[in-house]
Amino acid sequence: MREKNMLNILRDSSYTVVLSGAGLMAESGYPLLRDGSESYEIEEKYGYSFEEIFSSGFYSARKDLFFRFYKEVLLKAVETPPGDGFHALKKLQDHGLIQAIITRRIAGLEDRVGCRNVINMKGTVYDNVCPSCGRHYPVEYMKEAKGVPLCEDCLVAIRPQVCLFGEMIDNSVMTRAAEEVARADVLIVLGASLTSSLCSQMIQYYTGSNLILVSDQEHYSDERADIIVRGRCDEFLKSMVSEVEK
Ligand SMILES: [Zn+2]
Repeated sequence: MREKNMLNILRDSSYTVVLSGAGLMAESGYPLLRDGSESYEIEEKYGYSFEEIFSSGFYSARKDLFFRFYKEVLLKAVETPPGDGFHALKKLQDHGLIQAIITRRIAGLEDRVGCRNVINMKGTVYDNVCPSCGRHYPVEYMKEAKGVPLCEDCLVAIRPQVCLFGEMIDNSVMTRAAEEVARADVLIVLGASLTSSLCSQMIQYYTGSNLILVSDQEHYSDERADIIVRGRCDEFLKSMVSEVEK
């Protein structure tokens, strides 16, 4: 019954936007480098925290260690395939129930399953550019490079097009994301608390009447949602797909 009501809300909505958080990604088996148990291991192995290494200052000063960490930890994590939740998200989009997806995660999971109109606020590891000549390089090139990945033409370090700690999100990307949220009738938050960076940046632009929060973790800010779905995001998304395909 709950699924049917929820589906009706999505069907009645003229524009539905999803904020895709860390929870959905963790359900695919991704490590949470900043807060998970991995954060301790990173500090043990590299002598710095994730936030220290993955920062603009560190990138400028210590490219050798930055890229060692980047390849050994981040690009290794990205080898994990997108889980069921992402495939279900794509199906819901194919059924016309979701119009835009916004995320701060840099693994490009929504793009990898073929979702459309995805705004990667902090970029993804799939785009890498030589700052000198502007040539783009695929992630495979970054993975296979010995040491610091260098542009074949300029021999300067290729920069992953992701927002590092200490850097601002690109203004045009912020604007685009804010415009999508402002258009939304229904806003679905998947696997993030309403005070997470993703939500605190975006919810202020939302003027619709159905803010749906899907999370298996309770948080004091949950009551600001109009509807709370307590459970895993992938289970919720899959149940919506079964309901729509009945
Ligand atoms: Zn170059």
